[in-house]
Amino acid sequence: MPTQEKTSHREKAEDSPLVAELAARIQKSGPMTVAAFMESAASYYYAVKSPFGTEGDFTTAPEVSQMFGEMIGAWFVDLWLQMGRPEHVQLIELGPGKGTLMADIMRTVSAWPEFKAAATIHLVETSPQLRQAQARTLNNCRPTWYDRLEEVPPGISFIVANEFFDALPIHQFKKVKGTWQERVVGYDALDAAFFFSTLPTPIDVKSVMPAEFLEAPDGCIYEVSPASLSVMETLVRRISEHGGSGLIIDYGHTVPGLGDTLQSVSRHRYSDVLDNPGSKDITAHVDFSLLKMTAGDAVRIHGPVEQGAFLSALGIQMRAENLAYAANDTQKKDIVLALQRLTSASEMGFLFKVMGITPKGSVVTPAGFGDEVPDNEAE
Ligand code: SAH
Repeated sequence: MPTQEKTSHREKAEDSPLVAELAARIQKSGPMTVAAFMESAASYYYAVKSPFGTEGDFTTAPEVSQMFGEMIGAWFVDLWLQMGRPEHVQLIELGPGKGTLMADIMRTVSAWPEFKAAATIHLVETSPQLRQAQARTLNNCRPTWYDRLEEVPPGISFIVANEFFDALPIHQFKKVKGTWQERVVGYDALDAAFFFSTLPTPIDVKSVMPAEFLEAPDGCIYEVSPASLSVMETLVRRISEHGGSGLIIDYGHTVPGLGDTLQSVSRHRYSDVLDNPGSKDITAHVDFSLLKMTAGDAVRIHGPVEQGAFLSALGIQMRAENLAYAANDTQKKDIVLALQRLTSASEMGFLFKVMGITPKGSVVTPAGFGDEVPDNEAE
Protein backbone atom coordinates (compact mmCIF):
# COMPACT_ATOMS: atom_id res chain seq x y z
CA MET A 1 0.00 0.00 0.00
CA PRO A 2 1.31 3.45 -0.76
CA THR A 3 1.99 5.71 2.23
CA GLN A 4 0.23 8.99 1.72
CA GLU A 5 2.38 12.04 2.49
CA LYS A 6 -0.13 14.84 2.64
CA THR A 7 -3.16 16.04 0.83
CA SER A 8 -2.46 18.98 -1.37
CA HIS A 9 -3.80 22.31 -0.22
CA ARG A 10 -6.63 23.47 -2.50
CA GLU A 11 -6.57 26.93 -3.93
CA LYS A 12 -9.84 28.44 -5.05
CA ALA A 13 -9.05 28.64 -8.71
CA GLU A 14 -11.08 27.03 -11.43
CA ASP A 15 -9.70 23.59 -12.22
CA SER A 16 -8.04 23.02 -15.57
CA PRO A 17 -9.64 20.17 -17.60
CA LEU A 18 -6.42 18.24 -17.03
CA VAL A 19 -7.40 17.72 -13.37
CA ALA A 20 -10.32 15.45 -14.27
CA GLU A 21 -8.24 13.64 -16.87
CA LEU A 22 -5.39 12.89 -14.45
CA ALA A 23 -7.81 11.96 -11.64
CA ALA A 24 -9.55 9.46 -13.95
CA ARG A 25 -6.22 8.06 -15.09
CA ILE A 26 -5.03 7.53 -11.50
CA GLN A 27 -8.35 5.98 -10.46
CA LYS A 28 -8.11 3.54 -13.35
CA SER A 29 -4.39 2.66 -13.31
CA GLY A 30 -3.15 3.67 -9.85
CA PRO A 31 -0.75 6.42 -8.75
CA MET A 32 1.46 7.91 -11.46
CA THR A 33 5.16 8.71 -11.24
CA VAL A 34 6.17 12.30 -10.55
CA ALA A 35 7.69 12.27 -14.07
CA ALA A 36 4.40 11.28 -15.72
CA PHE A 37 2.50 13.86 -13.67
CA MET A 38 5.02 16.59 -14.51
CA GLU A 39 5.07 15.72 -18.20
CA SER A 40 1.26 15.90 -18.48
CA ALA A 41 1.05 19.10 -16.43
CA ALA A 42 3.86 20.88 -18.33
CA SER A 43 2.75 19.95 -21.83
CA TYR A 44 -0.86 20.91 -21.08
CA TYR A 45 0.31 24.18 -19.54
CA TYR A 46 2.53 25.21 -22.48
CA ALA A 47 -0.16 24.19 -24.96
CA VAL A 48 -2.91 26.36 -23.49
CA LYS A 49 -1.42 29.13 -21.35
CA SER A 50 0.49 32.26 -22.17
CA PRO A 51 3.05 31.92 -19.43
CA PHE A 52 5.62 34.67 -19.98
CA GLY A 53 5.99 38.24 -18.75
CA THR A 54 4.29 40.46 -16.20
CA GLU A 55 0.82 39.39 -17.37
CA GLY A 56 1.76 35.72 -17.23
CA ASP A 57 3.24 33.43 -14.59
CA PHE A 58 7.00 33.99 -14.83
CA THR A 59 9.61 36.09 -16.60
CA THR A 60 12.63 34.51 -18.28
CA ALA A 61 15.96 36.26 -19.00
CA PRO A 62 15.18 37.09 -22.67
CA GLU A 63 11.91 38.66 -21.49
CA VAL A 64 13.79 40.76 -18.90
CA SER A 65 15.96 42.48 -21.48
CA GLN A 66 17.19 42.39 -25.07
CA MET A 67 20.73 42.49 -23.65
CA PHE A 68 20.52 38.79 -22.76
CA GLY A 69 19.94 37.64 -26.36
CA GLU A 70 22.47 40.16 -27.63
CA MET A 71 25.21 38.63 -25.49
CA ILE A 72 24.30 35.15 -26.71
CA GLY A 73 24.22 36.28 -30.34
CA ALA A 74 27.70 37.77 -29.89
CA TRP A 75 28.85 34.50 -28.25
CA PHE A 76 27.83 32.52 -31.34
CA VAL A 77 29.29 35.04 -33.82
CA ASP A 78 32.61 34.93 -31.96
CA LEU A 79 32.73 31.13 -32.31
CA TRP A 80 31.74 31.32 -35.98
CA LEU A 81 34.63 33.76 -36.60
CA GLN A 82 37.03 31.50 -34.68
CA MET A 83 35.85 28.55 -36.81
CA GLY A 84 36.89 30.37 -40.00
CA ARG A 85 33.40 31.61 -41.01
CA PRO A 86 31.73 28.38 -42.19
CA GLU A 87 29.25 28.98 -45.02
CA HIS A 88 26.35 27.07 -43.48
CA VAL A 89 25.41 26.93 -39.81
CA GLN A 90 22.20 25.98 -38.06
CA LEU A 91 21.02 28.10 -35.17
CA ILE A 92 18.95 25.70 -33.09
CA GLU A 93 16.90 26.72 -30.07
CA LEU A 94 15.32 24.24 -27.67
CA GLY A 95 12.05 25.49 -26.15
CA PRO A 96 12.05 29.04 -27.59
CA GLY A 97 9.01 30.33 -25.64
CA LYS A 98 7.80 33.51 -27.36
CA GLY A 99 10.81 33.56 -29.74
CA THR A 100 12.31 36.62 -28.06
CA LEU A 101 15.78 35.16 -27.50
CA MET A 102 16.15 34.07 -31.13
CA ALA A 103 14.87 37.45 -32.36
CA ASP A 104 17.48 39.24 -30.22
CA ILE A 105 20.19 36.86 -31.44
CA MET A 106 19.22 37.51 -35.07
CA ARG A 107 19.15 41.27 -34.60
CA THR A 108 22.64 41.12 -33.12
CA VAL A 109 24.06 38.90 -35.85
CA SER A 110 22.74 41.25 -38.55
CA ALA A 111 25.89 43.27 -37.87
CA TRP A 112 27.72 40.34 -39.54
CA PRO A 113 25.77 39.90 -42.81
CA GLU A 114 27.95 36.96 -43.79
CA PHE A 115 26.96 35.13 -40.61
CA LYS A 116 23.31 36.02 -41.08
CA ALA A 117 23.41 34.66 -44.64
CA ALA A 118 25.09 31.46 -43.43
CA ALA A 119 22.53 30.77 -40.69
CA THR A 120 19.25 28.88 -40.86
CA ILE A 121 16.92 28.82 -37.87
CA HIS A 122 15.58 25.63 -36.30
CA LEU A 123 13.19 25.66 -33.38
CA VAL A 124 12.48 22.61 -31.24
CA GLU A 125 9.05 23.29 -29.73
CA THR A 126 6.14 20.99 -28.90
CA SER A 127 3.49 23.58 -28.02
CA PRO A 128 1.37 24.56 -31.07
CA GLN A 129 0.39 27.78 -29.35
CA LEU A 130 3.99 28.82 -28.68
CA ARG A 131 4.97 27.86 -32.25
CA GLN A 132 2.46 30.46 -33.41
CA ALA A 133 3.91 33.07 -31.05
CA GLN A 134 7.41 32.26 -32.34
CA ALA A 135 6.23 32.56 -35.96
CA ARG A 136 4.91 36.05 -35.18
CA THR A 137 8.12 37.15 -33.46
CA LEU A 138 10.41 35.65 -36.09
CA ASN A 139 8.37 36.34 -39.22
CA ASN A 140 11.42 37.71 -41.07
CA CYS A 141 13.68 34.77 -40.33
CA ARG A 142 11.83 31.78 -41.86
CA PRO A 143 12.35 29.30 -39.00
CA THR A 144 11.58 25.59 -39.25
CA TRP A 145 9.93 23.76 -36.34
CA TYR A 146 10.56 20.30 -34.93
CA ASP A 147 9.19 18.26 -32.05
CA ARG A 148 12.59 16.81 -31.21
CA LEU A 149 16.24 17.73 -31.65
CA GLU A 150 16.84 14.44 -33.50
CA GLU A 151 14.67 15.72 -36.38
CA VAL A 152 16.85 18.75 -37.15
CA PRO A 153 18.88 18.00 -40.33
CA PRO A 154 22.60 17.31 -39.92
CA GLY A 155 25.02 20.24 -40.13
CA ILE A 156 27.16 22.55 -37.99
CA SER A 157 24.91 23.28 -35.03
CA PHE A 158 24.84 26.30 -32.74
CA ILE A 159 22.40 25.18 -30.06
CA VAL A 160 20.91 27.29 -27.27
CA ALA A 161 18.54 26.20 -24.51
CA ASN A 162 17.36 28.77 -21.97
CA GLU A 163 15.05 27.46 -19.23
CA PHE A 164 14.31 24.40 -21.35
CA PHE A 165 15.81 21.57 -19.30
CA ASP A 166 13.99 22.69 -16.12
CA ALA A 167 10.68 21.94 -17.84
CA LEU A 168 11.59 18.33 -18.64
CA PRO A 169 10.12 15.65 -16.35
CA ILE A 170 12.03 14.28 -13.35
CA HIS A 171 11.63 11.06 -11.42
CA GLN A 172 11.88 11.34 -7.66
CA PHE A 173 13.04 8.60 -5.30
CA LYS A 174 12.41 8.83 -1.57
CA LYS A 175 13.98 6.88 1.29
CA VAL A 176 11.16 5.26 3.25
CA LYS A 177 11.86 2.89 6.16
CA GLY A 178 15.38 2.24 4.94
CA THR A 179 14.58 1.59 1.27
CA TRP A 180 14.46 3.84 -1.76
CA GLN A 181 10.97 4.03 -3.25
CA GLU A 182 9.63 5.95 -6.22
CA ARG A 183 7.65 9.06 -5.31
CA VAL A 184 4.27 8.96 -7.02
CA VAL A 185 1.12 11.07 -7.23
CA GLY A 186 -2.23 9.66 -6.10
CA TYR A 187 -5.70 11.15 -6.13
CA ASP A 188 -8.08 11.36 -3.18
CA ALA A 189 -11.61 11.43 -4.63
CA LEU A 190 -13.22 12.41 -1.29
CA ASP A 191 -11.01 15.48 -0.92
CA ALA A 192 -10.85 15.95 -4.69
CA ALA A 193 -7.10 16.48 -4.29
CA PHE A 194 -3.84 14.99 -5.52
CA PHE A 195 -1.32 13.72 -2.95
CA PHE A 196 2.24 12.41 -2.91
CA SER A 197 3.01 8.91 -1.82
CA THR A 198 5.68 6.30 -2.57
CA LEU A 199 5.72 2.85 -4.13
CA PRO A 200 8.44 0.23 -4.45
CA THR A 201 10.40 1.12 -7.56
CA PRO A 202 11.04 -1.35 -10.36
CA ILE A 203 14.28 0.59 -11.04
CA ASP A 204 17.56 -0.50 -9.49
CA VAL A 205 18.38 2.83 -7.79
CA LYS A 206 22.05 1.89 -7.57
CA SER A 207 22.17 2.32 -11.34
CA VAL A 208 20.86 5.90 -11.27
CA MET A 209 22.12 7.30 -7.96
CA PRO A 210 25.64 8.30 -6.84
CA ALA A 211 26.91 5.71 -4.32
CA GLU A 212 27.30 8.38 -1.59
CA PHE A 213 23.51 8.85 -1.46
CA LEU A 214 22.48 5.20 -1.18
CA GLU A 215 22.67 5.23 2.63
CA ALA A 216 20.89 8.60 3.05
CA PRO A 217 18.41 8.76 5.96
CA ASP A 218 14.63 8.32 5.68
CA GLY A 219 12.82 11.24 4.10
CA CYS A 220 15.62 12.14 1.65
CA ILE A 221 14.67 12.64 -1.98
CA TYR A 222 16.84 12.00 -5.03
CA GLU A 223 15.84 13.34 -8.44
CA VAL A 224 16.85 12.28 -11.92
CA SER A 225 15.57 13.41 -15.31
CA PRO A 226 16.09 10.70 -17.96
CA ALA A 227 14.35 13.00 -20.48
CA SER A 228 17.03 15.67 -19.90
CA LEU A 229 19.85 13.17 -20.16
CA SER A 230 18.46 11.87 -23.43
CA VAL A 231 18.30 15.39 -24.94
CA MET A 232 21.85 15.98 -23.67
CA GLU A 233 23.04 12.78 -25.37
CA THR A 234 21.52 13.92 -28.68
CA LEU A 235 22.99 17.41 -28.34
CA VAL A 236 26.45 16.04 -27.54
CA ARG A 237 26.34 13.56 -30.44
CA ARG A 238 25.31 16.33 -32.83
CA ILE A 239 28.11 18.68 -31.76
CA SER A 240 30.73 15.95 -31.80
CA GLU A 241 29.65 14.66 -35.23
CA HIS A 242 28.80 17.89 -37.05
CA GLY A 243 30.69 20.58 -35.11
CA GLY A 244 29.32 23.79 -33.65
CA SER A 245 28.63 24.60 -30.01
CA GLY A 246 25.95 24.52 -27.35
CA LEU A 247 24.86 26.81 -24.56
CA ILE A 248 22.63 25.56 -21.77
CA ILE A 249 21.31 28.19 -19.38
CA ASP A 250 19.11 27.24 -16.48
CA TYR A 251 18.75 27.27 -12.72
CA GLY A 252 20.15 24.32 -10.94
CA HIS A 253 23.08 22.77 -9.14
CA THR A 254 26.58 21.92 -10.30
CA VAL A 255 27.30 19.15 -7.81
CA PRO A 256 25.09 16.11 -7.21
CA GLY A 257 22.60 16.66 -4.41
CA LEU A 258 19.60 15.36 -2.52
CA GLY A 259 16.37 17.29 -2.09
CA ASP A 260 12.97 18.03 -3.56
CA THR A 261 13.28 20.80 -6.16
CA LEU A 262 9.95 20.31 -7.91
CA GLN A 263 8.27 23.69 -8.00
CA SER A 264 5.31 25.51 -9.41
CA VAL A 265 5.01 29.18 -10.15
CA SER A 266 1.79 30.98 -10.84
CA ARG A 267 1.48 34.73 -11.32
CA HIS A 268 5.14 35.15 -10.20
CA ARG A 269 4.55 33.36 -6.86
CA TYR A 270 5.41 29.87 -5.70
CA SER A 271 2.38 27.65 -5.59
CA ASP A 272 1.49 24.07 -4.59
CA VAL A 273 2.78 21.72 -7.32
CA LEU A 274 -0.15 19.35 -6.89
CA ASP A 275 -2.89 21.92 -6.98
CA ASN A 276 -4.64 22.39 -10.31
CA PRO A 277 -2.01 20.79 -12.59
CA GLY A 278 -1.91 22.22 -16.09
CA SER A 279 -2.91 25.68 -14.91
CA LYS A 280 0.61 26.80 -14.01
CA ASP A 281 4.29 26.31 -14.57
CA ILE A 282 5.91 23.15 -13.14
CA THR A 283 9.70 22.76 -13.17
CA ALA A 284 12.65 21.27 -11.31
CA HIS A 285 16.25 22.32 -10.80
CA VAL A 286 18.63 21.15 -13.50
CA ASP A 287 21.35 18.77 -12.37
CA PHE A 288 24.33 20.12 -14.35
CA SER A 289 26.63 17.50 -12.85
CA LEU A 290 24.54 14.75 -14.48
CA LEU A 291 24.41 16.60 -17.81
CA LYS A 292 28.19 16.87 -17.67
CA MET A 293 28.57 13.22 -16.78
CA THR A 294 26.30 12.27 -19.68
CA ALA A 295 28.55 14.19 -22.06
CA GLY A 296 31.49 12.05 -20.88
CA ASP A 297 34.54 12.87 -22.95
CA ALA A 298 32.75 13.05 -26.32
CA VAL A 299 32.88 16.87 -26.24
CA ARG A 300 34.45 19.69 -24.24
CA ILE A 301 32.31 21.02 -21.44
CA HIS A 302 32.86 24.62 -20.33
CA GLY A 303 31.62 25.69 -16.91
CA PRO A 304 28.98 25.65 -15.69
CA VAL A 305 29.58 29.19 -14.52
CA GLU A 306 27.13 31.55 -12.88
CA GLN A 307 24.98 33.55 -15.31
CA GLY A 308 26.12 36.85 -13.75
CA ALA A 309 29.79 36.01 -14.32
CA PHE A 310 29.11 34.76 -17.84
CA LEU A 311 27.20 37.85 -18.94
CA SER A 312 29.73 40.16 -17.28
CA ALA A 313 32.62 38.44 -19.06
CA LEU A 314 30.77 38.96 -22.36
CA GLY A 315 30.51 42.69 -21.67
CA ILE A 316 26.88 43.17 -20.62
CA GLN A 317 27.79 46.16 -18.43
CA MET A 318 29.27 47.97 -21.42
CA ARG A 319 26.22 47.12 -23.52
CA ALA A 320 23.98 48.53 -20.76
CA GLU A 321 25.99 51.76 -20.74
CA ASN A 322 25.69 52.06 -24.53
CA LEU A 323 21.95 51.51 -24.40
CA ALA A 324 21.57 53.99 -21.55
CA TYR A 325 23.48 56.62 -23.49
CA ALA A 326 20.62 57.08 -25.96
CA ALA A 327 17.81 56.39 -23.46
CA ASN A 328 15.45 58.72 -21.57
CA ASP A 329 15.35 58.70 -17.75
CA THR A 330 12.67 56.00 -17.44
CA GLN A 331 14.45 53.79 -19.95
CA LYS A 332 17.75 54.34 -18.11
CA LYS A 333 16.16 53.11 -14.89
CA ASP A 334 14.76 50.05 -16.69
CA ILE A 335 18.17 49.23 -18.13
CA VAL A 336 19.81 49.40 -14.70
CA LEU A 337 17.07 47.22 -13.19
CA ALA A 338 17.31 44.67 -16.01
CA LEU A 339 21.09 44.51 -15.68
CA GLN A 340 20.71 43.90 -11.96
CA ARG A 341 18.06 41.26 -12.49
CA LEU A 342 20.18 39.33 -14.97
CA THR A 343 23.53 39.54 -13.18
CA SER A 344 23.11 40.22 -9.47
CA ALA A 345 23.79 37.28 -7.14
CA SER A 346 20.54 37.89 -5.24
CA GLU A 347 18.48 37.66 -8.47
CA MET A 348 19.25 35.52 -11.54
CA GLY A 349 23.02 35.98 -11.49
CA PHE A 350 23.87 33.18 -9.07
CA LEU A 351 21.11 30.57 -9.24
CA PHE A 352 21.22 30.46 -13.03
CA LYS A 353 24.17 28.62 -14.51
CA VAL A 354 25.63 28.54 -18.00
CA MET A 355 27.26 25.47 -19.52
CA GLY A 356 29.09 25.57 -22.85
CA ILE A 357 29.70 22.64 -25.16
CA THR A 358 32.25 22.56 -28.00
CA PRO A 359 33.69 19.66 -30.01
CA LYS A 360 36.57 17.70 -28.56
CA GLY A 361 39.93 18.83 -29.87
CA SER A 362 38.49 21.95 -31.51
CA VAL A 363 40.65 25.08 -31.60
CA VAL A 364 37.89 27.47 -30.53
CA THR A 365 37.82 29.10 -27.10
CA PRO A 366 34.28 30.07 -26.18
CA ALA A 367 33.96 33.44 -24.45
CA GLY A 368 32.59 33.83 -20.95
CA PHE A 369 34.06 30.78 -19.22
CA GLY A 370 37.54 32.03 -18.38
CA ASP A 371 40.56 30.30 -19.85
CA GLU A 372 40.14 27.12 -17.91
CA VAL A 373 41.27 23.78 -19.26
CA PRO A 374 37.99 21.88 -19.63
CA ASP A 375 37.60 19.51 -16.65
CA ASN A 376 37.07 16.50 -18.85
CA GLU A 377 40.29 17.12 -20.78
CA ALA A 378 42.46 17.96 -17.76
CA GLU A 379 45.04 15.39 -16.69
N1 SAH B 1 13.40 29.61 -23.70
C1 SAH B 1 12.22 30.39 -23.46
C2 SAH B 1 11.06 29.60 -22.89
C3 SAH B 1 11.30 28.77 -21.66
S1 SAH B 1 9.85 27.89 -21.15
C4 SAH B 1 12.56 31.59 -22.62
O1 SAH B 1 13.65 31.62 -22.07
O2 SAH B 1 11.74 32.50 -22.51
C5 SAH B 1 10.08 26.28 -21.80
C6 SAH B 1 9.92 26.15 -23.28
O3 SAH B 1 10.19 24.79 -23.65
C7 SAH B 1 8.53 26.43 -23.84
O4 SAH B 1 8.67 27.00 -25.10
C8 SAH B 1 7.92 25.02 -23.91
O5 SAH B 1 6.81 24.92 -24.75
C9 SAH B 1 9.11 24.24 -24.39
N2 SAH B 1 9.08 22.81 -24.09
C10 SAH B 1 8.82 22.23 -22.89
N3 SAH B 1 8.96 20.88 -22.97
C11 SAH B 1 9.35 20.62 -24.24
C12 SAH B 1 9.67 19.42 -24.93
N4 SAH B 1 9.64 18.23 -24.33
N5 SAH B 1 10.03 19.51 -26.23
C13 SAH B 1 10.10 20.72 -26.85
N6 SAH B 1 9.79 21.89 -26.23
C14 SAH B 1 9.42 21.85 -24.95
